[in-house]
Amino acid sequence: MEKRVLNFSAGPACLPLEVLKEAQQEYISYGGSGMNVMEMSHRGKVFDGIMKETEQDLRELMDIPDDYDVMFLQGGASLQFFMVPLNLMTKYKKAHFLHTGIWAKRAIVEAGKYAEANVVASSEDKTFSYIPKVDADVFTKNADYVHIVSNNTIFGTKFKGVLDTNGLPLVSDMSSCILSEKIDVRDYSLIFAGAQKNIGPAGVTMVIVKKELVESAPDDLPAMLSYKTHVEKDSMFNTPPTYSIYMAGKVFKWLKKQGGIEAMEKKNAEKAAVLYDLLDSSDMFKPLAAVEDRSLMNVTFSTGDAEKDKAFIEQATKNDMLFLKGHRLSGGMRASIYNAMPKKGVEKLVSFMKDFENKN
Ligand code: PMP
Repeated sequence: MEKRVLNFSAGPACLPLEVLKEAQQEYISYGGSGMNVMEMSHRGKVFDGIMKETEQDLRELMDIPDDYDVMFLQGGASLQFFMVPLNLMTKYKKAHFLHTGIWAKRAIVEAGKYAEANVVASSEDKTFSYIPKVDADVFTKNADYVHIVSNNTIFGTKFKGVLDTNGLPLVSDMSSCILSEKIDVRDYSLIFAGAQKNIGPAGVTMVIVKKELVESAPDDLPAMLSYKTHVEKDSMFNTPPTYSIYMAGKVFKWLKKQGGIEAMEKKNAEKAAVLYDLLDSSDMFKPLAAVEDRSLMNVTFSTGDAEKDKAFIEQATKNDMLFLKGHRLSGGMRASIYNAMPKKGVEKLVSFMKDFENKN
């Protein structure tokens, strides 16, 4: 068995070993086809089957209602920062944003190039270490939607519960928490997420959107930027990222085998608790996110001493615990513990942290 490290990267991130092994078995010939999936025509029967099954499994896992469309697109979550305004800003040419970090900011900047991006609240004053609490009436009715980032990958904060948007459609960037906990899709009008954190390889971005919003989108958008195009052509207007979709499909099947999203949520809560318990009791390591807004997927912490943080990251790396360096803005460390990270991996990290604390 080849060496595997503990990969705490924020994305692309680790994938379930079972999924990698299955893909390895199918590398030369998928299901007796005599081809790797990446060698097949996306118009052929075999890939068509993969595509349909992948969408069906995602629908089952997330319990996506029939009046929602699912798209598998390219361009990353970043393209959605512009595609959402283009398709959804139909009436007021304005949307409300909660500024909770760098990915929220990117969305605000992109939307602002096209129309009005109104920031109703921000947690920039405390380096995005918390989620601002807002009353529903800040979301004035003269806007097309409200945009949030459900899980802030860089700062390790998470929106808990459902935001009251005063009746406006809610758009959420779920790139770093999709499929990690049970949500009611009906609470959102549009959800988007890049795959490379909690799903599969980079290259595919899921968009889940209420059909009525696709129907009311403008007809004159450039084809590739129009949800109508991709919905009408079942995400096959042009060549889709076939291999990434195939791998995402494998992860969906793996999730079903784990017991679905409710079971994953339970495991994720237990896993994150192992790390937060240590952070709450340690004299050296301190958590960076406000207790009530802690993410289950990205855990940020620091010793408060940049030199010590650096030494910790170096020694962790030597011990095959990789990519623990935090983002430049928050400093310190970040352990990304998505669905595919086993609890044993987090326990190993915690035991290493205890050891580091004792020695230093
Ligand atoms: N949104 C969030 C919450 C993210 O974490 C990221 C990636 N780190 C992005 C958007 C950007 O994703 P992409 O690189 O797929 O465009």
